[in-house]
Amino acid sequence: MTIKKKKKLYEGKAKILYSTGNSYSLIQHFKDEATAFNAKKKEVIEGKGVLNNFLSEFFMQKLNSVNVPTHFIRRLNMREQLVEKCDIIPLEVVVRNIAAGSLSKRLGIEEGKRLPRPLVEFYYKDDSLNDPLVTESQISTFEWATETELGEIFEIALRTNDFLCGLLSAVNLTLVDFKIEIGRSFRSEGEKLIIADEISPDTCRLWDSKTKKRLDKDVFRLNEGSISIAYTEVADRFDLLPKNVRSAVR
Ligand code: ADP
Ligand code: UDP
Repeated sequence: MTIKKKKKLYEGKAKILYSTGNSYSLIQHFKDEATAFNAKKKEVIEGKGVLNNFLSEFFMQKLNSVNVPTHFIRRLNMREQLVEKCDIIPLEVVVRNIAAGSLSKRLGIEEGKRLPRPLVEFYYKDDSLNDPLVTESQISTFEWATETELGEIFEIALRTNDFLCGLLSAVNLTLVDFKIEIGRSFRSEGEKLIIADEISPDTCRLWDSKTKKRLDKDVFRLNEGSISIAYTEVADRFDLLPKNVRSAVR
């Protein structure tokens, strides 16, 4: 079935959302822009959008197949995918296995230290406030999510972590941490939460299990080289890029 791209609904830092001919789906377009530090560092990196489109398709499809519901419906082309439209809960849900990034900075925990168990954190999605860390109590007080939803969010976050850790360790990648966004599905009656947005090296920290080489957005944040080379390496470990796509992104 051909899907018509109707109207641009939203343009963010990394993606553009378009409406389709129906009320339950959206087209998600992946841009080549890379941003970090709340868009203070910005660059166009040719091929990044294509790589994240394929990588997010791969991770979300795998999650769908083990009944962790995501918004992913199907990939439409090199840069676009059809996704289920949902009501985004305004939280960035972060799961950490190893200390890095803002956790290391905030609490002085040495980067690379394995945590005794996976840590789930919530950040309020608001660029003007720099996405502050928030407590469960704040989430309930300000009604960003109900207590039932919070329970479900924990479950989705931890199941996603378990599944992705296994998938990645099979190709010698360590899932240090990641961020997901969760939305309320409009399609089903009653409560149904789904993973939305993207899962890619832009939203995860991925280290080579042996050498600890970074293969994620930290390469860009820390000026450690080319993210298109790093992201292609992640895709290659799963052999997921068609030949013509692989030659176009490198
Ligand atoms: P930002 O808004 O932080 O600049 P992006 O450029 O990635 O980030 O924009 C994508 C936007 O689309 C995000 O605000 C995200 O919450 C929203 N989004 C992602 N998936 C869906 C979906 N299935 N339904 C509705 N909104 C979505
Ligand atoms: N993350 C993200 N988007 C954000 C903030 C964080 O995808 O707006 C991801 C980030 O890539 C990392 C994890 O969430 O995989 C934890 O990020 P952290 O809190 O350490 O923040 P950062 O170091 O990115 O400021």
